[in-house]
Amino acid sequence: MSLSYDSAISFFNAELSRWTEVCQRYEALKGVNIRSMKIGDVRVGVQWNPARIQSTGAKLDAATLKKRPCFLCGQNRPSQQSFIPLEGGYEFLVNPFPILPRHFTIPHSQHRPQLIKDTYVDMMRIVGQMKNMLVFYNGPKSGASAPDHLHFQAGPLGIVPLQRDWNELYSPRLSRIFSDSNDIPGMYALKGYLCPGYVIISRSAEEGNALFQKLYSAMPVQETDTEPQMNILSWTTDNSDYITTVVLPRSKHRPECYFREGDEQIMVSPGAIDMGGLLITPREQDFRRLNPELIDGIIKECGCSEDVVMQINEKIKA
Ligand SMILES: [Zn+2]
Repeated sequence: MSLSYDSAISFFNAELSRWTEVCQRYEALKGVNIRSMKIGDVRVGVQWNPARIQSTGAKLDAATLKKRPCFLCGQNRPSQQSFIPLEGGYEFLVNPFPILPRHFTIPHSQHRPQLIKDTYVDMMRIVGQMKNMLVFYNGPKSGASAPDHLHFQAGPLGIVPLQRDWNELYSPRLSRIFSDSNDIPGMYALKGYLCPGYVIISRSAEEGNALFQKLYSAMPVQETDTEPQMNILSWTTDNSDYITTVVLPRSKHRPECYFREGDEQIMVSPGAIDMGGLLITPREQDFRRLNPELIDGIIKECGCSEDVVMQINEKIKA
């Protein structure tokens, strides 16, 4: 079934009307503390979100995952939770532990690993349907709290700084890497942000997918991983002919400060939203402590280096 922004909002309201504890979490999110900061002209934010402790603190090793009942599988979901079936075997759900004021999870109906190569085109089809929403992907080692169950997420535009400030700060600075023609669709380098990124601009899911496959095969894969580490943020609007997709290659799942002990620890476990400039901290001490310098350091540490970018670019152009 196809899904519009309006029907997603109606579904959201219906779910909250019969699911008290989740309704309360969304209400609590309205009063959540956010600190805004600037790093050069890049704007970032920190959100203090105590309800996210389970996700941020989650152990994600294979043995732990095997033991826990998968929270994205239909049979393990709360009885109040319903879903809208989507094309391609996906299910559209309200996220019961929100970061965004309307936060959706879009798992596949089958329990299968989080892998993007063959499912990116599905993601693009979802973006094409859900105009005016941000759709995002966390790789299995890049912020996914269910790396064993294929899923995307979605939420409103205008909240994650990288997307919110797109037209003002990032779109004018894009530098073209590859294109089949002199027309707008193609692959571009993200400039002026805290870490390197690739931007795919396409008119259709298929056109975007062809460009993504080129990028995917040029990205390095770490020895024990199933795919190149990355986050993806994608959107289109009613008055745009194009889908914009930002791919942020990752070098690390969690920053070094996550693993420090005692007062030295900073509990952030970045996914697409954090890498997009809104860091989520479940603990107050981390919320208070994070400053522009630390945030810049965390995003740079978890993103990829300019050396890796050069290697990827060479492969793309070869
Ligand atoms: Zn599952």
